[in-house]
Amino acid sequence: MKPIQLISPVDGSVYAERTPLTLDAAKAAAARAKAAQKPWAARPLAERIALVKTAVANLNGNAPKIVEELAWQMGRPTRFGDEFGGVNARTDYMSDIAAATLAPQTIEDSDKFRRYIAREALGVVFIVAPWNYPYLTTINTLVPALIAGNTVVLKHASQTMLVGERLADAFHAAGIPADVFQNVVLDHATTEHLIANRAFNFVNFTGSVGGGQAIERAAAGTFTPLGLELGGKDPGYVRADANLDAAVDTLMDGAMFNAGQCCCGIERIYVHESLYDAFVEKAVAWVKTLKLGNPFDADSTLGPMANKRFAAVVRGQIAEAVAAGAKALIDPALFPADDGGAYLAPQVLVNVDHSMRVMMEESFGPVVGIMKVKDDAEALKLMNDSPYGLTASIWTEDYDTAAALGAQIETGTIFMNRADYLDPALCWTGCKDTGRGGSLSYLGFLSVTRPKSYHLKKV
Ligand code: NAP
Repeated sequence: MKPIQLISPVDGSVYAERTPLTLDAAKAAAARAKAAQKPWAARPLAERIALVKTAVANLNGNAPKIVEELAWQMGRPTRFGDEFGGVNARTDYMSDIAAATLAPQTIEDSDKFRRYIAREALGVVFIVAPWNYPYLTTINTLVPALIAGNTVVLKHASQTMLVGERLADAFHAAGIPADVFQNVVLDHATTEHLIANRAFNFVNFTGSVGGGQAIERAAAGTFTPLGLELGGKDPGYVRADANLDAAVDTLMDGAMFNAGQCCCGIERIYVHESLYDAFVEKAVAWVKTLKLGNPFDADSTLGPMANKRFAAVVRGQIAEAVAAGAKALIDPALFPADDGGAYLAPQVLVNVDHSMRVMMEESFGPVVGIMKVKDDAEALKLMNDSPYGLTASIWTEDYDTAAALGAQIETGTIFMNRADYLDPALCWTGCKDTGRGGSLSYLGFLSVTRPKSYHLKKV
C-alpha cells in the first residue's frame, strides 16, 4: 500500500507518514473489535467509566507533546494550548449521566408482569474523524460509545493521523484492551469497503458534505446507522438592541479562531442597519489586531490554514466575490506572513450578497461577509437561505424574540449572545446538508445504543 503523508502547513515538510492497512488487515481489525465487544459490555458500567476517565487523564498528562504536534499537524498556534478543557468537560458530563441514561426504563413491575425497555450497546462503533478539532470531535463519540459497552475502531484524518495514535496510547495505558479501542490508518476505498460489508454497527462520520455523501452511499442497503456531522455556514444576526461590543468580540472570534476552521465558526453576519456602520468599523479594527505567523511564535494569534489547498479555496472565494462587486476591508499587506499558500491573511467583506459563493458555500477559513438588514424578517430569510444548518447566533437583549426567531431558523443549535461553543448537556446536531444524528447530551448515548424491550409474564 502507498504510504499516506501528513504535510505540515507550518513549513510544507512531511511531518509523518504511515502505511494504510491492507483490506485483509482492516477486516481482521474489525473482526477483533467484534470479538472483543461482548466481554467489554459484560464489565460493570462503573468499571468502564473509570477506565475511560483514566484514559482521558492520561491524555491530559501528555499535553505539552500534544500541543506541539497539533501545531505541526494543523497549524494551530501553541498559545491556544490543547483541547482538553472541552474534552474533560464532555467526558465528565457523559460519565455523570451514563447510569441514569442507560438504565432500563420500567413500564410495569407488578405481580403479573415485568415490562421494561433496556438500552443495549450497538456493537462495533466506527469513528471517521476530521482534523480541525481532532481530539474534541473524536471524544464526542469515543467516550459515550465505550461507556455504553461498544468497542471502537477509529480512522483519523490523514492531516492529524498522530492524534489517533496518542488517543490509543492513552486509552491502552489506562487498561482498555487493545481490541476494545483500535486506531487504524485506512484509505478511503478500504473505509468504504468495510462499511459496505457491514463491518460496523454504527458509523460516526464528522467531516465534509462530500465525505458524508460517500459514507452514506457506502452504507446504502446495509441498514448500518450513521451519525453524519457535516459542514456549516453559520450566521450571526445582530439586532438593533444588541450589545455591540460583545457582539463584535464574540462573532469575530467565532469567525477567525482556529483560522476560521471551526464547523460552527461564524461565516456570515447580518447586522441591523442602525448598528451596521459601527459594527463594520469595530469588526475591521478587531481583525487588525490579529497576528498571522508561525504557530510556534508566542505572539501568533492566527496560524496557517491546515493545508494550502484549503487556503486556495478561501482565496478563490474572496477573489470571486471581489470580482462580483464585494469590497475587501483588510489590506493583506498588513499581514506580511501571507505567503500565497497556507498562511492566509484574514478578510472582512462587505457589499456581499447571496449570489456569491463566499456567502453560500462553506469557506472554513479566516473570512467573513457582513450584510446590512432592515428587520427580523429580512435576517430570518437570509439566515435560512443556506444549504446548511448547524448553529445560528442571535444578538439581542430580548430573550422572547430570540426564542421565537430560533423556532423559525433551520438549524441544529440556536445561540443568544454567544457563538461557536459546544455544551455537553445539549445535543450537537444539524439539519439540511449539515447531516443528521446527535452527539453529546443524553441523546449521545441513545445514538450508540439500541432499545431492547422486555415483556416478562409471571405465571
Ligand atoms: P473530510 O475531508 O470530509 O474528512 C473527514 C474524515 O473523513 C477524514 O478522516 C477523511 O480521511 C475521511 N474521508 C473523507 N472522505 C472520505 C471517503 N470518501 N471515504 C472514506 N473516508 C473519507 O473533512 P475534513 O476536511 O477533515 O474536515 C472539515 C469538514 O468537517 C468541514 O466541512 C467541517 O465543517 C466539518 N466538521 C463538522 C463538524 C460538525 O460537528 N458538524 C465538526 C468538525 C468538522 P482523510 O483525511 O484520510 O481524507
